This record gives sequence, C-alpha cells and structure tokens, in this order.
Amino acid sequence: MGSLVLKNIRKSFGQVEVLKGIDLEVSDGEFVIFVGPSGCGKSTLLRVIAGLEDATSGSVGIDGEVVGHLPPSKRGIAMVFQTYALYPHLTVRNNMALGLKQAGQPADQVEQRVTAASTMLSLDEYLERYPAELSGGQRQRVAIGRAVVRDPQLFLFDEPLSNLDAALRVNTRLEIARLHRELGATMIYVTHDQVEAMTLADKIVVLNSGVVEQIGSPMELYNNPANMFVAGFIGSPQ
Ligand code: ADP
Ligand code: MG
Repeated sequence: MGSLVLKNIRKSFGQVEVLKGIDLEVSDGEFVIFVGPSGCGKSTLLRVIAGLEDATSGSVGIDGEVVGHLPPSKRGIAMVFQTYALYPHLTVRNNMALGLKQAGQPADQVEQRVTAASTMLSLDEYLERYPAELSGGQRQRVAIGRAVVRDPQLFLFDEPLSNLDAALRVNTRLEIARLHRELGATMIYVTHDQVEAMTLADKIVVLNSGVVEQIGSPMELYNNPANMFVAGFIGSPQ
C-alpha cells in the first residue's frame, strides 16, 4: 500500500503552465525526494498528489486507482507543511486528535493513536501544551504526529525542516528516517537541501521549471548526472 503513479501531469495557473507533463512511479514504502530550485513546481506537484489542487490534465493513481475524483481526506495521504499549520487554540493532544475526531473515529481509538504517535515522537510530556508554548522543533514534531495518527499509506512532506536551525534539522531528519523504517509507509519529501536529499532518498526526482530532469538513486545521480543542471545540484553543496 502507498504506491503512486503520475501520468503526464500538467498544471496551469491562468496562462502560466507550472507543471509541464510529469511522469513518475513510486513503489510501496519508497522514500522519494523532490528537489529543484524555488518556483519549479515542487509544492504544486505535492498539492496535486494530495488533491489540494486539481491537475489541468493527466492522472494521479494511488494503489492502482486513479484518484482524481477523491477529496484529500479519502486518498490515504497525510501532508506535513513547512509552516506546521497547527491550530493555536488547541493543545498538542487536540491538534493531533482533531482530524480523527472529525472523521468520526471512536474516542478510545483516537486516544490510543494519539498516545502511540506522541510516544513515537517524544511528545508525551507536551500533550497538554499549546503550540505557542513549544519550540519550532517541537511544533514540527506535533505536525508530523498529526500526520502519523492518521496512519496514512503515503506521507507528503513539503520542506518540513526549513524553518529549523541546523542542529534541529539533523535531529528531525534522523527522526523522519526512523519513522520511515518503523512505519514502512511511502514518503515523498520536498527539499532543496542536498544533504537531506542524498541521505534520506531511495530515489531523487530532479525538477526544473515544471519538468523532470532526471530520476534516480542518489548514487546514480551522483555518478551519472543526465545534464549540467543535475550535476550542479548533486555535485556542489548548496
Ligand atoms: P516550489 O514549491 O518549487 O518553490 P511552487 O509549486 O510553489 O514552487 O510554485 C510554482 C510556480 O507556480 C511559481 O511560479 C508560483 O508562483 C506559481 N503558483 C503556485 N501556486 C499558485 C497559485 N495558487 N496561483 C498562481 N500561481 C501559483
Ligand atoms: Mg514549495
């Protein structure tokens, strides 16, 4: 569970085409990184996969089913944003529980999932706090916890570490790698950090101006970059 097939995805905003025919296959449990310069369409592509934006044409398939007609909540997906997007008036516990409650899950099951996720993310002692009482790293862990409680087959991360300082970035990256091992879910992760890409990815998708420049393992891209653009990204620390 958690495989993804994108076929010729195009997306325009007004006259501007920002995704120009993206094809991609992601297997169950793979960790796939999208990299590319600011404005190349990474977030838009994640939002199309999640169903937060409709593609102008092309199809999104999850677990063998084309999901164009399905709203985000029915796609078995959870998305983690750069800005955390927590509810300030809710405690950590209730931030994590809200989506499950809204989906009509029984209270004891919600409680059980929140407890498991908070333990997994070392949030047990913060459950009754509000987001304003947490550090940036703790807030991002809550945002990840809110995704984990939903038990998605597919996680989408949009530059989840870019608001954290350097030390926290390393810790949180290792935590996400551990989650991937423990949960076995498919993860798609946007970053423009070369180290994150090289250390986390099974497969890297290099995007540029709405097209895929190359797809391959970190070593494939490193040893055999398709062009100067890919070589420039993978070859030089930035
Ligand atoms: P990235 O995440 O790679 O930085 P985005 O996917 O956010 O890039 O944006 C790609 C392009 O699409 C940018 O030029 C951006 O301005 C444009 N864009 C994104 N969302 C919208 C929108 N809702 N309306 C109009 N243009 C948008
Ligand atoms: Mg973006």
